[in-house]
Amino acid sequence: MDGKTLAARIRAEVAEEVEELGELGLATVLVGDDPASHTYITLKHKAADEVGIRSNDIRLPAETSEEEVLEVLAELNADDATDGILVQLPMPDQIDEAKAIRAIDAVKDVDGFHPLNAGQLYLGEPTHVGATPLGILRLLDEYDVELSGARAVVVGRSDIVGKPVAHLLLHRNATVTICHSRTRDLAAETRRADVLVVAVGQAGLVTPEMVQPGAVVVDVGVNRTEEGLRGDVDPAVMEIAGLMTPVPGGVGPMTIAMLLANTVRAARFRRGALAFPRV
Ligand code: NAP
Repeated sequence: MDGKTLAARIRAEVAEEVEELGELGLATVLVGDDPASHTYITLKHKAADEVGIRSNDIRLPAETSEEEVLEVLAELNADDATDGILVQLPMPDQIDEAKAIRAIDAVKDVDGFHPLNAGQLYLGEPTHVGATPLGILRLLDEYDVELSGARAVVVGRSDIVGKPVAHLLLHRNATVTICHSRTRDLAAETRRADVLVVAVGQAGLVTPEMVQPGAVVVDVGVNRTEEGLRGDVDPAVMEIAGLMTPVPGGVGPMTIAMLLANTVRAARFRRGALAFPRV
């Protein structure tokens, strides 16, 4: 499954929507020196610029206090020109990430991490859903993967990827199994999957004997190894899978494209074109 090509198409669609909607703003808050985080944020802003979304790239030193971060977020919440806000994780230890996420106005929470947005997904009434899970679903749809009644296995239960993907698949009527580090016999579970999504962070964890021939495999993992960027799925699985996402070029580009789409969605919520629930 070619995430790069689909992502380019989505970005082109977003550019048209931005032109229709007029000025749109995406703000990101990055605290500290994590090199991978700096790379991700740079990529996100480059992509935003290319589709005409005005980006506000806030990078704060590693010693920034929680109070200062909360102040920045309050300013962005109040700023009418900011449609979407995201805080890049992980944040340094002195900052309570959950508190920072809750401090974002839910309507601007383009990562979908705010409890209100997470709760809406749980209820099957999604508002903002994270870009990675959304990108995975979009890829499966693009390739006409039948989800209704399919046995879907999600390996990984993070709030960022595993759990939201599992909910999206469940809402599409897949029979979903969620695996994690305490799963007793991972291979027995993965072998049953018609659709297998792997989001763990261990290069090559899923090997060919763990996959049903013809299964659809989505590899979310991004692992920096001596041989370069590797997914969580052994590339040899490609030979037996019906469809599979490569790393790089699969889920990664979709994540960036869907973040831009989420910013457009945030603008629509804020302008009343879509209803946003308030509690
Ligand atoms: P995470 O928060 O570290 O979660 C990893 C999950 O994997 C946990 O639920 C953990 O189980 C489970 N796990 C660990 N070892 C396992 C094992 N041996 N067998 C089965 N499950 C195991 O990671 P994440 O944020 O979800 O990210 C996962 C991967 O996706 C990382 O490589 C990350 O870089 C990548 N990622 C890529 C994108 C993208 O755009 N391409 C976006 C986000 C993340 P426990 O809960 O029991 O600890």
